[in-house]
Amino acid sequence: MWLKGKLYSSGELVEGCIGFDRRIRQMKRECKPDLKLPEGSIIMPAGVDMHVHLRGLELSYKETVATATSEAVYGGVGVVVDMPNTLPVINSRSTIDMRLVELSNYSRTDYGIYSGVTSDKVDDMPIAGYKVFPEDLEREEISNVLGSNKLKVLHPEIPMSLRPGRGNRRLWQELASIYLVKGNFHVTHSTNLETVRIAKGHHFTTDLTMHHLLVEERDCLTKVNPPIRDTTERRRLISALFEVDAVASDHAPHSSREKELPYELCPPGIAGVSFNIPFIYTLAFRGVLTLSRAVELTTENPSKILGIDSGEFAIGKLANLVIIRKERWRYSTKFSKVIHTPLDGFPLDAAIFSTIVEGKVAYLDGDVYPVRGSNVFDKAIRN
Ligand SMILES: [Zn+2]
Repeated sequence: MWLKGKLYSSGELVEGCIGFDRRIRQMKRECKPDLKLPEGSIIMPAGVDMHVHLRGLELSYKETVATATSEAVYGGVGVVVDMPNTLPVINSRSTIDMRLVELSNYSRTDYGIYSGVTSDKVDDMPIAGYKVFPEDLEREEISNVLGSNKLKVLHPEIPMSLRPGRGNRRLWQELASIYLVKGNFHVTHSTNLETVRIAKGHHFTTDLTMHHLLVEERDCLTKVNPPIRDTTERRRLISALFEVDAVASDHAPHSSREKELPYELCPPGIAGVSFNIPFIYTLAFRGVLTLSRAVELTTENPSKILGIDSGEFAIGKLANLVIIRKERWRYSTKFSKVIHTPLDGFPLDAAIFSTIVEGKVAYLDGDVYPVRGSNVFDKAIRN
């Protein structure tokens, strides 16, 4: 397939053609394109979202792998990596196998999964790495995880979300937890600038969600873990856009029924896998971020952190592309089972025209196509 237009290459936009099958094969000046692109659109590397809860399995009433990944490609995301707070929990050879079968059947984008901390020997399996809570560090099984070369993703706080006294949870829990870990760690969903700076000081990579930046916690819809900090902290967090390595969604869908429960009982989590790419490119179009910073945050850095073959246009890389057009619109989900999010109605200047996953059109101008993504951590099928 050939695409022709304004194409991102070595930090800038150039007029040209990109030719690909599953991988990028050629870049040149002239070609006969297979798809007509809207006026003013740009061809960019598709997003990589390091922190997504795809649900499915016994939580399919909240979201299925097909609905979550349809929402992802609608949002310009070409790779999602699934966190294991599933039912059943993914922390053994058999549950990892079961999860990978489910994703290979239903994922409409490329994917990977993390395992929970486990006594089972799973390190040789095609997983992205491990999810680690600070309290996991006291468990005997942690030695398996700490000895692994794979990525460890730290959730920097002690989860107490379902217990009363949520309001008393203090920032120090988040900050202190970073001092507990050593090695190849990535600190996810930093809620304040200190977390980012301490993590960077320890040479950890970090990511940031957009809800911790843009949303105020006031009800069940906006209840999330870790909690959104107060307005002062959120304002300071804007600087983190220039300091973190990546943005992630922490897409965490729940049913409307669950979100309508009283505040003390309703589960924490916000669905927003389709929000980050349009939002970050809106900032780029408005001149708040450079285009190359937008690429770093959404795809180049997460690809490097995960060690996968995407995030830039170069011969031999995965042909995961997003075509973005300048368009004023207000955010809403489209394919997720979640129809209300705190980001609804947010004004955006960038919209996704098409997402291409391993050379195939997964999303085009309002429609999702049943493309099958593959496990980007499975070396056996990678060539
Ligand atoms: Zn999460």
